[in-house]
Amino acid sequence: MHTLRSGKAIEPVFRGTNSELAAYFDASEKYGWDMNCAIAANATSSGRITQEAWDFLSSALLTALDRDGPFDGVLLALHGAMVTESFDDGEGALLAAVREKVGPDVPVCVSLDLHANVTDQMAESGSGLFSFRTYPHIDIYETAARAAVVLRDAMDGKIRPRCVVARRAMVDGVNRGRSQDGPMVELVRRSLAFGKEAGILDVSVNAGFPWADIEMAGPTVTVTHDDAADRARAIAAEMMDLAWDERANVTVPLLDIEQAMARVAALGAGDRPIILADFSDNPGGGAYGDSPNLLGAMIAAGVKNAAFGCIADPEAVTMCQRAGVRGTVTLPIGGKVDPALTPPLVVTGEVVGISEGSFTLQGPLSSGLRGSMGSTAILRIGSIDVILCSFRLQTMDPAVFRSQGIDPEDKAVVALKSAHHFRAAFEPMAREILIVDAHGLASPDLGKFEYKKVRRPVWPLDL
Ligand SMILES: [Zn+2]
Repeated sequence: MHTLRSGKAIEPVFRGTNSELAAYFDASEKYGWDMNCAIAANATSSGRITQEAWDFLSSALLTALDRDGPFDGVLLALHGAMVTESFDDGEGALLAAVREKVGPDVPVCVSLDLHANVTDQMAESGSGLFSFRTYPHIDIYETAARAAVVLRDAMDGKIRPRCVVARRAMVDGVNRGRSQDGPMVELVRRSLAFGKEAGILDVSVNAGFPWADIEMAGPTVTVTHDDAADRARAIAAEMMDLAWDERANVTVPLLDIEQAMARVAALGAGDRPIILADFSDNPGGGAYGDSPNLLGAMIAAGVKNAAFGCIADPEAVTMCQRAGVRGTVTLPIGGKVDPALTPPLVVTGEVVGISEGSFTLQGPLSSGLRGSMGSTAILRIGSIDVILCSFRLQTMDPAVFRSQGIDPEDKAVVALKSAHHFRAAFEPMAREILIVDAHGLASPDLGKFEYKKVRRPVWPLDL
C-alpha cells in the first residue's frame, strides 16, 4: 500500500497527472475552494484489507472531518469494490461514517472506478456517485471533474443531489466493462443521453468486480439526480434491463496456453510485437502476479526476441542480485504464493539488469503518475528477457519495460499480466493481441469459485 498523509505532500504528486486527485486540486483552484486533502492511498487488488489498514485509512479521513471542519462539501476518490476484514462493503461503511460526521445536508460526491460493486449503502450515504466511462480507464480525470462540478453546484445551493442504484441477478456482465465494443457502448451512449434530462445530474454504468464474494457484487447503474428520484429509478432500471439482456455478450475471446502458442507460431516473424496478455494472473483482478505458466510455455516453444513482464518474486530478485549483472543463475521463479495453483518454474538464465524498479507511467492511463515494482532484476532466459520484481503489478504501461532498458516495440513477442488496461498503451504498437487464460487465480470462469455471500440465484452461477 502506498500512502501520503498530508495535503502538502499529496498535491505535487498528483498535479498534472491523469488522476482523480489532479481533477480535485484543479477544481479547488478553479472554483476558489479552500480544500483540505486528508489522505491519499492506493493498493493493488488483493484479499481483504486488514483491520489495521482500515483503521489507519478511515481514521485519517474521519479525524480530519472532526478536526478541520465544518466543511461545506466532501469529495472522495474511491474504487468502489473495497472489502475489509470487518466490512464486506468497505466504501458503504466509509460513506456511512462520513455521512454521520457531516450530517444529512452536506454534499458528498464520490468518483468511482467502473469496476465498483455499488451497494445500496453507498447510494444511500453518498450524494452523488460518478464512475469512469472507459475501460481502459482513460477518463479518470474527467470523471472526477464531473463529481467536482456537482459538488460545486450543491455547495452553491443550486441543487440537492441524491443517488439511486439498480442491479439485477448478475455478478458478471456488461462485457466486463470494455468500452470499445459490446454492451458498454450502447449503455454509455444512453447514460450520456439520459444525463441531459432535467433533474438528472449523472448516469454511471458499473461493470462490478465479480471476484469479490459480497452480497451485492456485480454490475450496477447509478443515477445522481436533483429531486427526480422516480425518473432516476426508471432510468437505472431501463439501463439494467439492457445490461441483463446483453449479459452473455463477451467480445474478447480467451485462448488457452496451447492455442496462444500455436497462434504465435502461425504468425511467424513480423516487424511489430505480438502481445500475449495473461488475463488470469492479472494483479488488477486480485491475482498473485507470480504465475510462470505462460513463461514456461514460451520457453518450451523456443519463442525468440521476447520480453515477459512481470513475475513478482522478491526471493528470485535477491538471488539475481547475489549473482550480479552478467551472472548466470539456476533458480525457481514465481509460484511462491500458491504453488498448488501455479507451481514455480525452474529456469537458468543470465542476469542482465538490476534496478530499484521505479518508473513514470507514459501511456494514456494514469499518465504522469509514478509507479514502483520494488527491487527488480532482468533475467535473460534464451532470448526472453524476464522482469522479476518485488511488488505485484498489473503491466499496463510500456514504462514497466522501458524503465528496465527493454523497448517492447523492438520485441517480436511481449507477454504481460493484464486483462484489458494494457490496450491503452500497447494496442497501437501491437501486431496482434492474444488474451490468454493461463490458469491463474483471477479466472474468468466464475464457476471455479466457491461463493458464499453473493446473493443467489445469480447469473452466471445459477441462472
Ligand atoms: Zn477498473
